[in-house]
Amino acid sequence: MSTFTDPKTIGKPVRPRRHVRTLTGYLPETDAQGKEKWPRGDEKAWKDNMRDVDKDVPAITKSFVSHVQTSLARQPYNLDTLGAYQAAALSVRDNLLVNWNETALQYTRRAPKRAYYLSLEFLMGRTLDNALLNLDLKQPYAQATQKLGFNIEDILEKERDAALGNGGLGRLAACYLDSSASQELPVWGYGLRYKYGIFQQLISPEGNQLEAPDPWLDNQNPWELPRLDVAYEVRFYGNAERVRDENGNTTDRAQWTGGQEVLAVAYDVMIPGSYTRTTNNLRLWESKPKRGFDLNSFNAGNYEGAVESSNSAAAITSVLYPNDSTGFGKELRLKQQYFWTAASLADILRRFKNIGKPIQEFPDYVAVQLNDTHPTLAIPELMRILLDDEELPWDAAWQIVTNTFFYTNHTVLPEALEKWPVPLMEHLLPRHMQIIYDINLFFLQSVEKKFPGDRDRLGRMSLIEEGFPKQVRMAFLACIGSRKVNGVAELHSELVKTTILKDFVEFEGVSKFGNVTNGITPRRWLDQCNPELSALISSTLKVDKSVWLKDLYQLEKLLPYAEDAAFREKWAAIKQRNKERLAHHVETTLGLTINTHAMFDVQIKRLHEYKRQTLNILGVIHRYLTLKNMSKEEREKVNPRVVFFAGKAAPAYYIAKLTIRLIVNVARIINADADTKDLLSLYFLPDYSVSLAEVLIPASDISQHISTAGTEASGTSNMKFCLNGGLLLGTVDGANIEIAEEVGESNVFFFGHLTPAVEDLRYQHTYHPVPIEEKCPALAHVLNQVSAGLFGDAEVYEPLLNTIRQGDHYLLSDDFDSYIAALAMVDEAYLDRTEWVKKSIRTSAKMGKFSSDRAINEYAESYWNIEAQHIS
Ligand SMILES: *Cc1c(COP(=O)(O)O)cnc(C)c1O
Repeated sequence: MSTFTDPKTIGKPVRPRRHVRTLTGYLPETDAQGKEKWPRGDEKAWKDNMRDVDKDVPAITKSFVSHVQTSLARQPYNLDTLGAYQAAALSVRDNLLVNWNETALQYTRRAPKRAYYLSLEFLMGRTLDNALLNLDLKQPYAQATQKLGFNIEDILEKERDAALGNGGLGRLAACYLDSSASQELPVWGYGLRYKYGIFQQLISPEGNQLEAPDPWLDNQNPWELPRLDVAYEVRFYGNAERVRDENGNTTDRAQWTGGQEVLAVAYDVMIPGSYTRTTNNLRLWESKPKRGFDLNSFNAGNYEGAVESSNSAAAITSVLYPNDSTGFGKELRLKQQYFWTAASLADILRRFKNIGKPIQEFPDYVAVQLNDTHPTLAIPELMRILLDDEELPWDAAWQIVTNTFFYTNHTVLPEALEKWPVPLMEHLLPRHMQIIYDINLFFLQSVEKKFPGDRDRLGRMSLIEEGFPKQVRMAFLACIGSRKVNGVAELHSELVKTTILKDFVEFEGVSKFGNVTNGITPRRWLDQCNPELSALISSTLKVDKSVWLKDLYQLEKLLPYAEDAAFREKWAAIKQRNKERLAHHVETTLGLTINTHAMFDVQIKRLHEYKRQTLNILGVIHRYLTLKNMSKEEREKVNPRVVFFAGKAAPAYYIAKLTIRLIVNVARIINADADTKDLLSLYFLPDYSVSLAEVLIPASDISQHISTAGTEASGTSNMKFCLNGGLLLGTVDGANIEIAEEVGESNVFFFGHLTPAVEDLRYQHTYHPVPIEEKCPALAHVLNQVSAGLFGDAEVYEPLLNTIRQGDHYLLSDDFDSYIAALAMVDEAYLDRTEWVKKSIRTSAKMGKFSSDRAINEYAESYWNIEAQHIS
C-alpha cells in the first residue's frame, strides 16, 4: 500500500492521473477558407531559421566544431578521439532529429494505420556508422574530421555497443527497425531502457566465463532524446474489486486500486531509414519512483526509508535478464514485462485518441506485433483498459483485442516456453489474473462447444497448466489473443502448427497460422561491415548501392561473374583483406597472431546445448588427434584451418559454461603444439557482440550452424555469413534449409539426421541405449581423451561429457560421424580454390530473399495492413 506523500500536495486531494503529461495537438488550424494558419509568431522568422540536414563538408565542419566548443566545452588542445566521437555523434544526431521530427509531424497529419513492434530486446550495436551510411553522409564526415585532425574509422571505434538484447531475437528486432524505416513504413519500436545491457563476458585463466556489468550509459548516450514530458503511471499489486450491477451481481468490470505506482518515462531513439527522409522512433521506457520521497519517514529522521521507494522503482529497468531461451520465474522480470506493456499501450492509446475516432476503430489504426511471448500481458492489459476504463462490453473488447495483436513464436523447445506461476500473477497483477481466468473460461466454453466431451483437449488447451503451483501458459494466451500467429522459418512454422499449437490449429483453423522467414538488414550486414565487397558489387552491377541495398534480389546479377576470372580474383582478394582485418583486430585486442592463409572456420552465437558448440569442439579434438597420428608427409597435404568461437552463456547455464571452458583449454593445448599448430589453431574470442560479429563475419570462409534438427527456429547469423560470401556447414534446420533452396544444395555442406528422425532417436537413447563405444567409436575416443585429462582438469568436464554418454538429448552421437565426413568435404572443396570462390559468389548472389526488407514487407502487407508513407 502506497504511503508516499508529495509535500506540494499536502492538504489537497491527490487525484489519480494515469497519463502524467505529454505533448499533444500539434496539428495545424485552418482558417474559414480551409487554408492552414501559421501556429505562432512570424512565419518568415521561423522558416528562415529552421535548419535542414547538413549536406556538405563546410556545414558539417561547422557543426562539429560548434559541438566541440559548446556541447562538450572543449578546445582543439584537449580534444581526444572519444571527444571527437561525441562531437561527430551530436552533429549527426542534429541531422537525424530534423528528419525524425518531420516524419513524426507527417505521420500525425496523415494519421495512417501504424504498427508497433513490442520487443523486450533491441540489440542495436553501434549507431554512428549506420547513421552516416543511411544518411549518405559518410564521405563528407570523413573529409570534415580528416581536416580537423581525426580519422573517421578511429572515431567510429570509440562508440560502445547498445547491447539491450541477448542474441538473435534482439538483433532481429533491430534489423526490422532498420527495414521499416528504409521501406518508409510507419512502424515504431517499444522496449525498455536498461541501465545495464547484456553482461560483458570475461574469461578467467582457467577458462571460466565471468560476467561483469555493461555500463553502456557511462559516457552519455547521444542517440537518445529524453522525453521527460512523456510519462505514464504504472500500478502493481493492490486489489481488484469486481464492479456489481444494480442487482448486486458481479460484472466483467473491476476496479483496481492500491498497491505500488511507478512512473514510466520515455527515451526516444532515432531510427534512420536508408536513403530516405523517413526516421522512425524506438521508444524505450525508464522506470522512476512516482514521488520523490515519503514525507512521514522523512520527518521521522528515516532518510533511507524515505528514499526506499525510489530504489525499488528504479530497479525495474536496471538490468536486462541475461537468459537465452530458458530461465523464468523471477518476479522482477514479470514486473518489467508489465511495466513495459502498460506504458506502451497507454502511449499507443493516447496517440489513437488524438485522431478522434471511436474506440471500435482502434484496430483500423493500430497493429501491435508481439516479439515472442514477453509482451503477452498487453492482451489482458488492453482488455482491462477497454472493460474498466472505456466500459465496453466483453465481446466488443475481445473483438478489438483479437484484431490488434499479432504474435511471433520463436521456439518450440518445451523448456523455453514462457509460463508464470498463478500465485505470483495474482499477487503482482490481480486484475490481469481475473481477466486471464475470464478469457480462459469463455475460450474453453467455445472449445467444449466444438469438441463436446473432449476433457483431455480442454486440459491441453487451457491457459492454466495444472500443477503446484498452477502456471499461466503465455504462448497459448498470445495465440488466442492475436489476429495471426507466425513462426520464423518454413520448417519452424510447420513445427509450431504440428506440435505446440496443434490443438489451436484444429480449433481456430489453419489460416490464422503463417510463416515469415526472418531476414537481416543488408545495410549493416554487408555495406557497413564489408565496405569493399559493397563497392565491388556496385561497380560490377553498375548500380548505385542506394538501389541494390533496398532491392537485394539484384545481387542475382552477380551470378555470371562467377565465371569471370578477373572478378573472382577481386572477390577472393577482398575476403583475404577481411581475414587480415580480423587478424589485426585479434592481434591488437588479445595479442594473438593468426595465420591468415588458413581456412577461417567460424561458429559465433549464444552458447546453448541445442546449438551444439560441443559437437564443434569435439570435432576439433578429433581433427587434432588425427593430425597427431599422421606422418610428416601426410601432414604436408593438409589444408591449414583456424577455428573461431565466440558467444555468451547464460550465467546460470552450467553445461554451456563448461563448454566454454573446454574450448578455451583445448585452444591452450593445441595452439602450443609445435607438431600441429600450423595446421590447426583455435580461438575463443571473448565478449561476443554485434560489433565483433561485424569483424568476424566478412572474414569467414566457412561458418557452422549445426543445431539438432528441429531445434533452431531460424537463425540469422547463417544469413549474415552467406551474404558476405562465406559458405555454410549446417544441419537441415531452420533457415539453413531455405538458404540451401536459394543457393542450391551443391553450394552448402549439409549433414546429420533430419527432423522427423529426432523423436525416434531420442526414444532409442532413453529406452534402448547403445554404449557410445559401439555406436560411435570415433566420438568415444574423443570423449575418453578429454576424460583422461589431455586438456587438463580431467574430472571437470565429466558433467558435460555425461550429457552425451547418458541420454544424449541433442543427438551428438547420432550425428558425429556424418559431421566429421562433412568437415572432410569442406577440406576437399577448399583445395579447389577456383571452385570455392565460385561457390562463394553464387552464395552471395542468391541471398536476396534474406533481406529483412522482404520480411518486413510481408508483415506490413499480410499481417499489419499498413502502407508506406513517403516523407517529403
Ligand atoms: C545475428 C546475431 C545473433 C544471432 O545468431 P544465430 O547464429 O542466428 O543464433 C546473435 N548475436 C549477435 C551479436 C548477432 O549479430
